[in-house]
Amino acid sequence: MKLVLATRNAHKLREFETLLAGHEIVALPDAVVLPPETAATFAGNALGKARAAASATGLDAIADDSGIEAAALGGAPGVRSARFAGETAGDGENLAKLLCDAPAGSALAYACALAYVGTDGREQVVEGRCTGTLAAQPRGDGGFGYDPAFLPDEIADGRTMAELDPAEKDAISHRGRAARALLALLDDRT
Ligand code: IMP
Repeated sequence: MKLVLATRNAHKLREFETLLAGHEIVALPDAVVLPPETAATFAGNALGKARAAASATGLDAIADDSGIEAAALGGAPGVRSARFAGETAGDGENLAKLLCDAPAGSALAYACALAYVGTDGREQVVEGRCTGTLAAQPRGDGGFGYDPAFLPDEIADGRTMAELDPAEKDAISHRGRAARALLALLDDRT
């Protein structure tokens, strides 16, 4: 299937091109305006972006909304992960704030909601999670965002998410799990 991906995040585009191999992933045209991420849930934000991309392009669309939940912060930053340290904060500032606000070793979870909106009006949302703990120091230069401080529970040798190669990350990540759930749904359609 040909699917437009409603994101401006080049890292996500790259990850989804691999995760949804077998489908043609089209980058979002520059002219399409995505709605602000104001929903209280990842699913609500993902659906809003996928609906906007489908209606603007006339193509089947997918969008994800994702973030990190820190148990020590009552689940924050959650849907505010991209803006944790302020509306214009970058990945480095958000990561520094998490390392400052939550204790090393405390529980974390990445969450991803992935929405599909078809030109026939069909809508589906699937979700994926990946649990871990907060590292004492950031390490690694792979991945993006909070990856240098995220120690995945499923990686036994103590590497952070940013120290995994892309295939290792895809196998356990929230986005990988959501993408595989979506693939199963899309395969059922064809
Ligand atoms: P959004 O889904 O574009 O709203 O942004 C989600 C934010 O959550 C990103 O800016 C990152 O800070 C964080 N995030 C989501 N997925 C990942 C990941 O796989 N690794 C690291 N950080 C992530």
